[in-house]
Amino acid sequence: MCRRAAGGPFAVLAWMPDDAIYWVGVPSFRRSSSIAQRGFCANCGTPTSLKYDGTNEIALFIGLFDQAEKLIPTYHYGIEGRLPWVDIGSGLPEKRTEEHID
Ligand SMILES: [Zn+2]
Repeated sequence: MCRRAAGGPFAVLAWMPDDAIYWVGVPSFRRSSSIAQRGFCANCGTPTSLKYDGTNEIALFIGLFDQAEKLIPTYHYGIEGRLPWVDIGSGLPEKRTEEHID
């Protein structure tokens, strides 16, 4: 489900208590399943969050954070949906974004 919501092979999320978040604008949500809602920016469509019903936690996409490099993943989640070629460990070739720009 995260692949479709993120438009990529997986999503990287940071979980936190609901009350730890202060929204600057009014977030938009859509029901993505019978158990969860997905947040997104109504202006640009950027996915922002995942919230399971009946919990006091929300997960934010780490791309939203100014210092996302400081958020170190601690576990994989939803591994049943992992694509067989996804391996975010060391040893993979690395390319910078500008290498894809002509
Ligand atoms: Zn936006």
